[in-house]
Amino acid sequence: MIRFASLGSGSRGNALLVQSGRTRLLIDCGFGPRALAQRLARLGVVPEQIDAVLLTHEHSDHVAGVAALAKRFSCPVYASAGTRRALARRQIAVPCLEDIEGTADFVIQDLQIRPYAVPHDAEQPTQFVVSAEGLSLGVLTDAGHVTASMRDALQGCAGLMLEFNHDAAMLAHGPYPASLKARIGGGLGHLENRVAAELLCALRGDDLQVVLAAHLSETNNDPAHVSASLARALADTPTAWQIATQQVGSDWMELRPK
Ligand SMILES: [Zn+2]
Ligand SMILES: [Zn+2]
Repeated sequence: MIRFASLGSGSRGNALLVQSGRTRLLIDCGFGPRALAQRLARLGVVPEQIDAVLLTHEHSDHVAGVAALAKRFSCPVYASAGTRRALARRQIAVPCLEDIEGTADFVIQDLQIRPYAVPHDAEQPTQFVVSAEGLSLGVLTDAGHVTASMRDALQGCAGLMLEFNHDAAMLAHGPYPASLKARIGGGLGHLENRVAAELLCALRGDDLQVVLAAHLSETNNDPAHVSASLARALADTPTAWQIATQQVGSDWMELRPK
């Protein structure tokens, strides 16, 4: 069994807890020590139980708490060469940094990790498929568009965490300055609802057990729109879904062998 839960998702902080067997990983750590401990406690976990952190990229909503966590509990932090360079440039000193070598698979205790590249305005953004017991969880946030290799990486996953960042019309008519609208809506920005739903339609099937919609913009999206997209994309399938919030995150979601 793999289970996973968001500790909070959006432009003010992200972290995803993934567990299989006795192994607990965080994907990203955008919360400082106190907030992280509180958010983990809701799920019955304490920070010392985190075995490793995987970083997707260097934006502060993904790394703000990682140095403190790694220092306090000496937990290894895996990052691409580009992410490590970007952290060094920003003088974020993370002890126990481990190298992710491109898209080569690696193992952390009970979990196999397959990194894959995504288009985003960071130095070497990397997302992950995490597998155990023949089950895979595909994670995708912070991507400006969907490439064929991303679709391939996520094919066959039993669980998905997918970015539904913004509604294109809400972004266009919203309060952000033109330059920021262009960045978010551009090819190196964030996935809009329609594109995420199209990807989900390409990936859906009887083997897809659960979907977690994530990284919703609090300004340029409406959870009701995302719910409607998910309901449409997953109609007539057995797939359960949730929407991760910035304030709370999500409940545990489970992937079970068939
Ligand atoms: Zn982000
Ligand atoms: Zn980002």
